[in-house]
Amino acid sequence: MHRFRVFGLGVGLLPAIACAQGTSGPAPTTTPSLLVFITVDQMRPDYFSRFESQLTGGLARLYHGGAFYSNAFQDHAITETAPGHSVTMSGRFPRSTGIVENSAGVEDPRAPMIGGGGLGASPARFRGTVLIDWLQKKDPRSRAHSVSRKDRGAILPVGRAKQSVFWYATTGNFSTSTYYADTLPTWVQRFNTRQIPAAYAGKSWDLLLDPKQYSEVDDVPQENAGRGGNTFPHLAPTDPAQAASVLAAFPWMDDFTLQFALAGLDAMKLGTGPQTDILAISLSTTDAVGHAFGPDSRELHDQILRLDRYLGAFFDSLYKVRDSSRVIVALTADHGVAPYPGVKSHDPNGSGAYVRAPLDTAWAAEARVAAALRDSTRFIWDTPFLLVNRGALTAGKLSPDSVIKAFVAAERKAPGVLRVDLMRDLARADTVKDAIARRWLHMVPPDLPVEVVVTLRPYNYWGERGIATHGTPHDYDAHVPVLFYGPPFKPGKYDEFARVVDMAPTLAAILNAPPLERLDGQILRSAIR
Ligand SMILES: [Zn+2]
Repeated sequence: MHRFRVFGLGVGLLPAIACAQGTSGPAPTTTPSLLVFITVDQMRPDYFSRFESQLTGGLARLYHGGAFYSNAFQDHAITETAPGHSVTMSGRFPRSTGIVENSAGVEDPRAPMIGGGGLGASPARFRGTVLIDWLQKKDPRSRAHSVSRKDRGAILPVGRAKQSVFWYATTGNFSTSTYYADTLPTWVQRFNTRQIPAAYAGKSWDLLLDPKQYSEVDDVPQENAGRGGNTFPHLAPTDPAQAASVLAAFPWMDDFTLQFALAGLDAMKLGTGPQTDILAISLSTTDAVGHAFGPDSRELHDQILRLDRYLGAFFDSLYKVRDSSRVIVALTADHGVAPYPGVKSHDPNGSGAYVRAPLDTAWAAEARVAAALRDSTRFIWDTPFLLVNRGALTAGKLSPDSVIKAFVAAERKAPGVLRVDLMRDLARADTVKDAIARRWLHMVPPDLPVEVVVTLRPYNYWGERGIATHGTPHDYDAHVPVLFYGPPFKPGKYDEFARVVDMAPTLAAILNAPPLERLDGQILRSAIR
């Protein structure tokens, strides 16, 4: 569906901009030897406050002992996993990282996975540098170990760097692609021979606490895309290979990912030298559970409690083997999520619906231009934006401006549409007051020929009934936690406006590692001692 390459785009590195961003934070007496950067896939910040009284583990430790920015955003329009992870340690918006959407994220057939169990993947589309590059410029001994259930969750936080980058293969192994290595390190092979996922065969996911501790209704027909299987207990298949292939749907996947992260910390001796190393962990089950059951479900509630306990055990293990005075932790999310249309929510989602008309309208316009040009690659609707090759339209005796004008007029009339913007006009928008305009401007790289962007009314979903999802410029998808923990940070709740792009410059200031290019983010000085 995603045909950027017809415009000669997608893969390539922009010329590096030589420029130093001021990182003159207070010089810490001892530079941290380890940064643990945690990204919880699809975590909304209200999960901390909503479940606070039942959090006793790692989330509680970070929330009560860290600097928590409650008014923080992934401040771009297409709030998906790949763009969100491209921001976390780059300090730059997707406009600059070049990662626009999941389907033009890390997929790369030229870099197959070692041992199979997934598609080939690499950071070939990622542009520019990230924190590990800045650390290595300062001290070449700095290393990163980046892990996730998802390829994009492991790859993008470390940019193009050929670090220790591993994700989960459906074979039940952690693996990587040929972009990073030709063979798996011995410690990874040894970890895989333990076949931990097979041990989950036949296991039942039941509530962690007494059922009375959960206020959510369990049996909600819309959950699981209406396919049933929406009540506890949730059973893993009894066949070990099948259990491994569906592990992503269960809370245990996060525990398994954390175990693999710690195994790498130990094998690579991260955080034991004079330099700063990075342990990057992206935890994906909150996303899987949020998609299947929604942000207001009993399942999501239980997943957050389990994540809290897993992270608690993780920090207990970590601080046994590393000096806590030299470890800093950062936590954020790649995006939030919208409730299922029609499901009672903590959100004001009464107007939420599945809307088909804006898609039909766009596809009809696409088909008309394709018929006129006898070429379907010059005028492309890639939900939620329109790509136009103006030269090809003109050569085919179509006026690009008239065709685009007609497209905009038709989309504006489609039920469910909030606004239809020409990218050209957004450049003149009030980016302080108009968050949606600002998020679109932060989204689209200047060399991508996006002419029109369409934003649905809040809580509306594109297309037919399906799973709960995210991806819009609305606050419920963009609002995420931004949290720092460790000796250099002043604990507390901060309600100032903050963005995920601000995390990398803040960490770079703490770590005395000047960025190697111009960033979009700024140092969050209020959190620094
Ligand atoms: Zn997702």
